[in-house]
Amino acid sequence: MVAVTSTWTEPGNTATALLLLGRGTDPASERGVDCPGDLPAPSDPDLVERATAAKAALGDRVFVLGHHYQRDEVIQFADVTGDSFKLAREAAARPEAEFIVFCGVHFMAESADILTGPAQRVVLPDLAAGCSMADMAVLGQVETAWDQFTDLGIAEDVIPVTYMNSSADIKGFVGRNNGVVCTSSNAKRALDWAFEQGRQVFFLPDQHLGRNTAVLEMGFDLDDCVLYDPHKPHGGLTPEQLRGAKMILWRGHCSVHGRFTIDSVREVRERVPGVNVLVHPECKHEVVRAADQVGSTEYIIRALDAAPAGSAWAVGTELNLVRRMALAHPDKQITFLDRTVCYCSTMNRIDLPHLVWALEELVAGRVPNQITVDADTAKYARVALDQMLALP
Ligand code: SF4
Repeated sequence: MVAVTSTWTEPGNTATALLLLGRGTDPASERGVDCPGDLPAPSDPDLVERATAAKAALGDRVFVLGHHYQRDEVIQFADVTGDSFKLAREAAARPEAEFIVFCGVHFMAESADILTGPAQRVVLPDLAAGCSMADMAVLGQVETAWDQFTDLGIAEDVIPVTYMNSSADIKGFVGRNNGVVCTSSNAKRALDWAFEQGRQVFFLPDQHLGRNTAVLEMGFDLDDCVLYDPHKPHGGLTPEQLRGAKMILWRGHCSVHGRFTIDSVREVRERVPGVNVLVHPECKHEVVRAADQVGSTEYIIRALDAAPAGSAWAVGTELNLVRRMALAHPDKQITFLDRTVCYCSTMNRIDLPHLVWALEELVAGRVPNQITVDADTAKYARVALDQMLALP
């Protein structure tokens, strides 16, 4: 009998390997950099104690931000929780904090760096915590599209609008071209403003938020929206389609919210009589249409907090948040909209070992995983962010 030995070789730095493993370096992407330090083992029984001690040792020098989609083991150490925009503002309102530890994903930490003072350092506990949606719009692709608009003679009348969930590069592009950033709470106000400035909107990177806002809140037809696919020549659109559209939507989506389907809605309505379906506007258009309510993460939290005891809810957003809301409201029946359990995998990269490591590094006088945005990009990204803050 021949002994067989098998050696498994880790794949190279392909996009898939980076996505799955967070190994190697991909400078064009939000994610994919090794954690440079010695992480404590997840099984270490002292992790909570170590995080508590490190945070206490740092005192007011550190401010920990926790996005709603973070794990409970991390959220327990957050000084404030919120959505990406609220957290960026909270960071900006703490000029005394030398270190902002951002428990969220890369684009959020970039926004915090843009909005905080030059002496403040923003730390992302795991650099592999990116956002697949933000990664779907790369600056070079967006500039190619813009050149196409210029060649067609429409760029002067196109106002770029980018969702907060985009890289600093994209926000900088939008600021340079007289556009605005929006969140899922103020997308309609941003679009109203944009249509006062120009005839067409170039909406980045989430097609669903753009389409849902335009059609359901502004009364546009689906035919007023075209989808620009950066992987096809000319975005897969004819000059006539580009000239005729009111909304030019970038082909990007959230891999978490995009998984909810119309079948998920039908199935839960059959399973739970009287259920209220509550979804995020990053969900597909047909799902949002079939839901009872749609709103941002903060809206979802307020709606569930205010719901009467005994009411039933199926919620289409990230699972950590839905689970936390269900635990907080045992008198209400709160379930995840889809039967298949799904977390945001990149959000979940920030776990307690990474948080402990980051805090202990700060205590030791080292700044790990600092997120910095170059001055020129930050300047124009800030123009687009300030324009959002100035929205009526
Ligand atoms: S939930 Fe979606 S939009 Fe939010 S960080 Fe994850 S992939 Fe990005």
